[in-house]
Amino acid sequence: MIKIAVVGTGYVGLVTGACLADFGHKVVCADADASKIQSLERGQIPFYEPGLEELVRRNVGEGRLSFTADVGAAVAPANVVFIAVGTPPLPDGSADLSAVFEVGRLIASKLSGGYKVVVQKSTAPVGTARRLWKELERAAGDGGVDVASNPEFLREGSALETFLRPDRVVIGAETPRSERLLRAIYRPLYLIETPTVVTTLETAELIKYASNAFLAMKISFINEIANLCESVGADVQTVAKAMGLDGRIGRKFLHAGPGYGGSCFPKDTMALAAFARERGERVRLVESTVEVNQAQKARMVEKIDKAVGGSRGKRIAVLGLSFKPNTDDIREAPALDIVAGLVKRGAKVVAHDPAAMEAVKQTPLGQRITFAQDPYEAAHGADAVAILTEWNLYRRLDLKMLAKILRRPVVLDLRNLYEPEDLAQAGLVHHSVGRPPSRVARAPRRRARQRKAK
Ligand code: NAD
Repeated sequence: MIKIAVVGTGYVGLVTGACLADFGHKVVCADADASKIQSLERGQIPFYEPGLEELVRRNVGEGRLSFTADVGAAVAPANVVFIAVGTPPLPDGSADLSAVFEVGRLIASKLSGGYKVVVQKSTAPVGTARRLWKELERAAGDGGVDVASNPEFLREGSALETFLRPDRVVIGAETPRSERLLRAIYRPLYLIETPTVVTTLETAELIKYASNAFLAMKISFINEIANLCESVGADVQTVAKAMGLDGRIGRKFLHAGPGYGGSCFPKDTMALAAFARERGERVRLVESTVEVNQAQKARMVEKIDKAVGGSRGKRIAVLGLSFKPNTDDIREAPALDIVAGLVKRGAKVVAHDPAAMEAVKQTPLGQRITFAQDPYEAAHGADAVAILTEWNLYRRLDLKMLAKILRRPVVLDLRNLYEPEDLAQAGLVHHSVGRPPSRVARAPRRRARQRKAK
């Protein structure tokens, strides 16, 4: 049996650990944060991810998954150690690799027990895995050590589905032994015919950055087209739909909105641009992607400000704070930048989110806004409602009720969840991203009545 240690029990580490245990492996998840481990031992998951609690409970119950705050004790007996710690951005945009190398040093001190494969799963610039390998080789005894890169592509909010049924598995492994072990670990995915790309360390690392940067670029691209749609009176939903019907383009990630966020796209695009610069290369499209995204968030503040006739003293209901639905993750959430922009202009923001309010309350911004129990409480007496995250709950709002309880019937649908006609029919003034105002014809109907009267 392969003994696995996963170091870092955040989104990636915990999902990896629980899923690998579910594949039948014996897994110990370790984290330097003792309070996180204590809650996991009590069966509490430190963040919101559908289905994860149940998966963890089952695998702990069946004896395949355990937790420890003693990282060294987890690493020492393991054949395979996954590193899944954070790689947050430094002020210059490059990735902070201090946690990866701290774990590396700890592993180096535990190499006497025989051969190990160290699998770098954290998203880290090209060259990180090879540097780690060099450092570990110096400390390795007779058993030897290999380092592999195994970038993770899971999506928060559907992490289990995307880990257990991924589009592909990428394995950067340069020795037959490490490749064999990683293939054995992912065998259940091979059995469901998941494409597996086995390649060098550098190529594996770059695949992760290139993939995230490309997706971010698609979002920034459609956001620029949406802004152009607003100027020329075109509808970005129809433009995106028709573009996406071209198989070479694809439909996904062509949804215009307030800009991308989350723990990955913002930091990975900046890190890619930074390590390209270090090598004397420019990735201009990636640099522009970052710039367009910043501008899009600022544009949303302007849009809301304009819709309410100046934010000062206005009550604005914000629906959605997490960077995307089905998660309580607020890292780099566009909603936070937009809310901060509104607060700076003197707006009184009342926010609602089904999962992320607790996280926002812990931030300085959380002290400057108020929170509501549901979307209608937020909207009550407000000068506008702004939908910033596309939670399903916000797709089926009672529009007539909204029109009744708002002080002014203004809806900024910044995720384009509603048809302009539906909002207009409920008596709401609609602002979207890249869609023309409703052509529903209140006026023509009135003309029809007038004709009848004649
Ligand atoms: P996270 O912040 O949720 O978790 C990181 C964990 O590592 C924390 O629990 C922290 O306490 C622990 N840690 C930090 N230093 C440690 C140390 N020295 N020893 C032991 N534990 C330590 O981060 P995450 O979202 O899970 O991301 C981890 C990596 O995976 C990042 O590089 C990220 O870019 C990448 N990634 C994330 C996602 C995602 O959707 N979150 C998807 C793909 C890849």
